[in-house]
Amino acid sequence: MRAPTDVRPVRRKWMGKSVIWLTWLPLLAGSAQADRFAPQLLPGLTVTVHTLHVDDEIVWVHEYRGPRPGFTFVSLHDDENTATQVAREYIAREGGRLVELRHGRGRNVAIRHDGHQHWFDPNRMFTPEGLARSLAYFLALSDRNLETASAFALAVERIINVQSGGTIISMHNNTDAHLSIDDYRKGGLYGANTREIAVSGGRDRDDYFFTNDEAVFRALAAAGYHAALMEAAPPDDIGSLAFLARRNGAHYVVIEAQHGHLASQREMLAALIPLLQQEAESNGSTR
Ligand SMILES: [Zn+2]
Repeated sequence: MRAPTDVRPVRRKWMGKSVIWLTWLPLLAGSAQADRFAPQLLPGLTVTVHTLHVDDEIVWVHEYRGPRPGFTFVSLHDDENTATQVAREYIAREGGRLVELRHGRGRNVAIRHDGHQHWFDPNRMFTPEGLARSLAYFLALSDRNLETASAFALAVERIINVQSGGTIISMHNNTDAHLSIDDYRKGGLYGANTREIAVSGGRDRDDYFFTNDEAVFRALAAAGYHAALMEAAPPDDIGSLAFLARRNGAHYVVIEAQHGHLASQREMLAALIPLLQQEAESNGSTR
């Protein structure tokens, strides 16, 4: 596998001003840097690596499979590694799939052409409106970037390949005090798309569930987790993975935990799975 060119901003002092230099460090296959993009296999896992081009940028989509079919996990943000560790451990043991984006740029995906670099959030790319808003946020809205990012979104959507009645478990990590269940209250960042929230006393507010599935929401709330229930017709079109799930008639659950909250995220997943299994059995779903 050929590794991409690594573009890293370096801050230096020059003539009393702080300027940003971009250094291009070609990565050699087999180097420690290239290993950052290698799939993390565990006993019981196999992986298919899909290589996607975003103009001159490369994103690898690692599609892990466990020993038997099961739920589909998705990790869209490359720097959220507690979440992917939890998902890999689970599917290696119990089955299912994990679709994970890797590119080494952190949270957002780069579009690179003609020496320019633009950005979009891969969890905002699943509707035309959401994608345009994300590009605009990064001052990168143009016909060319829309077309490039839309093609990328479609390719990722095909790999995720969720069926009607299926389930997507979206795995995320957040930073302390940057995102919490409180952002889902009316008037909060995601309040418009939230029908109801349940907040429990003893838990860290960074560790919560968000779902479009009312039965799962009620059960998680009753079990004492922080949880938010998505509006049936969410009015704020942000183009997140929830919108892809909704368009495909799939169940959707986010497990969001603070970076490094490995034990908490494991425990949240262990609490969620029996609820989803009960529901899949009662609906006769194939997941
Ligand atoms: Zn995330």
